[in-house]
Amino acid sequence: MDNLIYRTVKVAKIRREACSVYTVKFKDPLTAKATPGQFVMINVIGVDEFPMSLSYIGEISGVTFKVIGEGTQALSEVKVGEYIGIKGPLGHGFQIDPRDRLVLVVGGGIGLAPLIPLIEKLIENGVETKVVFGVRSSEDIFFRDRLSALVDDDLIIVTEDGSYGVKGTAPKIARKLVRENHFSRIYACGPEKMLYKVFRIAVRYGVKAQFSLERYMKCGVGLCGNCCLDPLGLLVCKDGPVFDVETLKKISDFGRFKRDPSGMKIKV
Ligand SMILES: Cc1cc2nc3c(=O)[nH]c(=O)nc-3n(C[C@H](O)[C@H](O)[C@H](O)COP(=O)(O)OP(=O)(O)OC[C@H]3O[C@@H](n4cnc5c(N)ncnc54)[C@H](O)[C@@H]3O)c2cc1C
Repeated sequence: MDNLIYRTVKVAKIRREACSVYTVKFKDPLTAKATPGQFVMINVIGVDEFPMSLSYIGEISGVTFKVIGEGTQALSEVKVGEYIGIKGPLGHGFQIDPRDRLVLVVGGGIGLAPLIPLIEKLIENGVETKVVFGVRSSEDIFFRDRLSALVDDDLIIVTEDGSYGVKGTAPKIARKLVRENHFSRIYACGPEKMLYKVFRIAVRYGVKAQFSLERYMKCGVGLCGNCCLDPLGLLVCKDGPVFDVETLKKISDFGRFKRDPSGMKIKV
């Protein structure tokens, strides 16, 4: 249960990856053993505490994030050698079936972050992996070299404005690929509207799939209940953040509602 105890880790590296996207790396024996898709609660001391998926898992682990508000702004400004608090790894990550021959990974924007360690593990397991990475514009692309080194020809970068790669949206390209290939599984992370479209594709074509969801969470360990999903009452922090397609079929909140910090239901 050591993963539930807050500890401080020294920042080993910080890197700007793209417009408002940063990676912060640290050494931590517990996150070194995390499953891709698991997350940590990050405490920027004296500022805020929030969940972040692991984008690097190993002797040096890390999180990659988009600057949104006060917390992520402060995280982007930490210096090498300073300390941050972390708790984790938390939740259930992506499951890999080594019997899978060919899989599709769909990332939307910063949603690519937890998918990268997954892609590394899939490749390590000899699973052929096609990747669709969708962003608004070329300046939002990050991890291009890391992705190319892993999947090379099997990478399609999609921009909404056509400024790089294929013009369009990730779900549109995903649909085309699903029609043309026999995927054993789809993995996806990104904005919920995008995830919901990919979910519909998985259901329509009968492909197994796993999706990483985001909800506002205060504790990350199943106490506050703010990340609960109706009608099953599943908690994104504890039962997820990764859910399979069969579970999501039963969750009416998926693609429609989330909870604000006060617990009130609002539209996704
Ligand atoms: C399991 C999980 C994994 C995540 N992984 C990543 C990641 O790898 N990279 C990344 O850039 N972002 C990730 N996020 C989202 C990230 O937690 C928010 O962007 C961050 O908390 C924003 O904090 P802020 O103080 O900068 O912004 P604020 O100004 O406080 O909030 C801006 C918006 O961020 C969201 N947010 C704020 N606090 C939380 C919270 N405690 N829980 C969830 N959402 C919150 C809310 O929608 C809020 O409206 C993840 C969220 C979850 C639930």
